[in-house]
Amino acid sequence: MEQRNAKNPETLLYKNKSVADLAPDALEAAEAFCEGYKAFLNNGKTEREAARYSETLLKEAGYRPFVPGMELKAGDKVYKINRSKCVLAATIGQKSMAEGFHLNIAHIDSPRLDLRPVPLYEKSDLAYLRTHYYGGVRKYQWPTIPLALHGVIYRADGSCAEISIGEKESDPVFCITDLLPHLGAKQNEKKLPDGITGENLNVLMGSLPIQDKEAEDRVKLNILCLLNEAYGITEADFTRAEVEVVPAFKARDVGLDRSLIGSYGHDDRVDAYPALMAEMETKNPAYTTVCVLTDKEETGSDGVTGLNSMYTFHFLQQLCETQGVNPIIAFQASKCLSADVTAGYDPSFADAFEPSNGTYAGRGIAIYKYTGARGKSSTNDASAELVSYLTSLLEDNGIVWQIGEMGKIDLGGGGTVAKYVANQDIDTIDIGVPVLSMHSPFEVVAKVDVYMAYRTFKAFCEDAR
Ligand code: MN
Ligand code: MN
Repeated sequence: MEQRNAKNPETLLYKNKSVADLAPDALEAAEAFCEGYKAFLNNGKTEREAARYSETLLKEAGYRPFVPGMELKAGDKVYKINRSKCVLAATIGQKSMAEGFHLNIAHIDSPRLDLRPVPLYEKSDLAYLRTHYYGGVRKYQWPTIPLALHGVIYRADGSCAEISIGEKESDPVFCITDLLPHLGAKQNEKKLPDGITGENLNVLMGSLPIQDKEAEDRVKLNILCLLNEAYGITEADFTRAEVEVVPAFKARDVGLDRSLIGSYGHDDRVDAYPALMAEMETKNPAYTTVCVLTDKEETGSDGVTGLNSMYTFHFLQQLCETQGVNPIIAFQASKCLSADVTAGYDPSFADAFEPSNGTYAGRGIAIYKYTGARGKSSTNDASAELVSYLTSLLEDNGIVWQIGEMGKIDLGGGGTVAKYVANQDIDTIDIGVPVLSMHSPFEVVAKVDVYMAYRTFKAFCEDAR
């Protein structure tokens, strides 16, 4: 038998601890950083708005539009907006691109309700907009909260009406109604996902009829009159529109200690903003840094603005061409932090988690070696070598980190864009900020984790190893 006396048990054991205990000096910096983050949230409730706000910040930071074939030297900063919905930004490194890129990727689309192509209707003297939910929403969470309309509507002449209604204090808001408890007996019998269905997610638009008493659909017509007055649009113009129904409330501090932020759309702006800030603040990096804020993650990354398309890799290939570098050589030498939110351990729903492998709000940037479901299917499983690289980078820079999985095995699961990057022969690992109430209209994150995400992206951008 081999019994020992462990002199320093803490050097043998692994246990993640809070940022407050490990890096108390970071609290003040985190508070300051999150002011900019809240502005990013409030100015970018859709992927289009987030891309535009990012473009403004990039221009202010001296980024020039990328033109294929342009001459680029170390320290140059260029960007490209893909179809108004994705951001690509790069800082040219001192090393040749043949030695690889340092890629930070996050997404700026969030779960929401989109308007259908023919959305407006009237029933029992009330006008509504029909919606089709986008991404993984728990439908019962969307009624009885104030909602805003954001998007673009193209008129017959090809001109664009941009709308944002419900954000200003003086704006009206919209909502989806629910049944009163007094008449809810039958609804209460249903399973949670069936209590509110996709066909129930109709947005209340108004109740006043037009003055003409003989007309049909008078309430609907009154809404169309008001829309036509304000935006010069007709009902047909909704067929060429992208209008998103999102929560009308703003990002707010949560908790008496103000340590948390509650907001719509943390997934995944809580990684996108820190990644963008780190990219913008990087000067003369050793490796060329690239920050990608993508669209369509919440619906599986397909389509021309999703990471399953070639748009990111075309951009990287075109960067390589400016130096006459073979992109295959560059990709094989590259590393990518694929950032997306992780499931924050929730003690009120402890049953869903395995505590030792949970990721916790307030304990720093979270690493997921893999995601997926049903026995690690449909995931990029980062190599031990890459985890080792990342954890040593974080340790060297005093960044508080944790590692885990998304809840208990076989409860569900989910994927990220990591696999689409890894499938292009680029070493990729998942990281992200833990979120409570993920995918709900009011998600919650810890400020210190947002800040540690930023520190992680920054350290990776500046890494010269
Ligand atoms: Mn996400
Ligand atoms: Mn998501």
